[in-house]
Amino acid sequence: MSDLPLLFKALNYAAEQHKSQRRKGNDSVPYINHPIKVTTILTQFVKKPCVELIAASVLHDVVEDTDATIDDIKSLFGDVIASIVQEVTDDKSLPKAESKKKQIDNAPHLSLNAKLIRICDKIANVRDICGENIPDWDYKTKIEYLNWAEEVVKGLGKFHDELEFTFKDEVRWGRLKIK
Ligand code: ZN
Repeated sequence: MSDLPLLFKALNYAAEQHKSQRRKGNDSVPYINHPIKVTTILTQFVKKPCVELIAASVLHDVVEDTDATIDDIKSLFGDVIASIVQEVTDDKSLPKAESKKKQIDNAPHLSLNAKLIRICDKIANVRDICGENIPDWDYKTKIEYLNWAEEVVKGLGKFHDELEFTFKDEVRWGRLKIK
């Protein structure tokens, strides 16, 4: 059985859930562009990713940023995908600073699949923040994001040379670009 029906089911569900959301920034990019970008990076760098990993990447912000729950993901996509999505979902009930700190603290304990999504998410965000889709953040906010993203990625440890290198390179270029 082909993996495509499951992938398109995930893409369709994510598009539906995020349909009224826009990314931060000046050009009101539809939110769904973000999980698509993250998954594009993932499939470029990860050799033979399993369908569960790709679907979880497509769905990675659905629970954190829409009214979907982990139980919804479980019943629609099964336990494996739901557990990866759960790992990369921040607890929105916490104050922002606390949930950001928790993401750093939890980084070493993530499964390999969750680490792969986490680093691709950070690469996509650094590209957006420092690149053409510059959100109207001031310099200090951008630097704070880069510093925090570096802490999170450091916490992930060594797990994928190419992605770690790409992240470091994006941050290095990002710092130069926003100067
Ligand atoms: Zn994301």
